[in-house]
Amino acid sequence: MRELEERIKNDGQVLGEDVLKVDNFLNHQVDPQLMYHMGEEFHRLFQDKKITKILTVESSGIAPAVMAGLIFQVPVVFARKHKSLTLKNDLYTAKVYSFTKKVSNEISISKKFLSSDDHVLIIDDFLANGQAVQGLMEIINAADATLEGVGIVIEKTFQKGRQLLDENGVEVQSLARIKAFENGQVVFVDEDQD
Ligand code: 5GP
Repeated sequence: MRELEERIKNDGQVLGEDVLKVDNFLNHQVDPQLMYHMGEEFHRLFQDKKITKILTVESSGIAPAVMAGLIFQVPVVFARKHKSLTLKNDLYTAKVYSFTKKVSNEISISKKFLSSDDHVLIIDDFLANGQAVQGLMEIINAADATLEGVGIVIEKTFQKGRQLLDENGVEVQSLARIKAFENGQVVFVDEDQD
């Protein structure tokens, strides 16, 4: 998605070897118009699927997931990383190792928001080693729901996530695919062909 790639080029900051900071349009400040265009793009990519629900993880997956939900006209459920007084019982849970924070979190979704009738599209902000998506897939399995595909805003193809999902036969569509970080600059997968 050209608009997203341009935004990453202009506003993304490469941190160390393998982290991209995009906190002025996605991870802290959010650009609603760009999010809306992402929602339209996810809809275009998955329009042949019968989606009844979109699943993501708090907090940075929520903005693109809600925009996709708006266009698919389906509810969006975000897995929570912390148990609260109001989220205690009847939960589906999975352990997720966080790539950026280097800690394990338990993510949870209330059983009342996912059922065996659901056809689910997972949406997340980044695909790195695939742990967050795998945690959501465990929850979808536990609910006996059907996974229809995975939509990712920014995929880093040099990490293991894509391979893991391909091996599991999961359809993955990413709006921007990063091949490498070179001298602090982002290189996209199809850049050579432009
Ligand atoms: P994974 O579970 O695929 O290893 O990592 C995905 C999660 O880690 C995403 O939900 C995202 O929150 C975070 N993440 C992974 N890589 C990056 C990155 O380069 N930049 C930012 N901002 N977050 C990342």
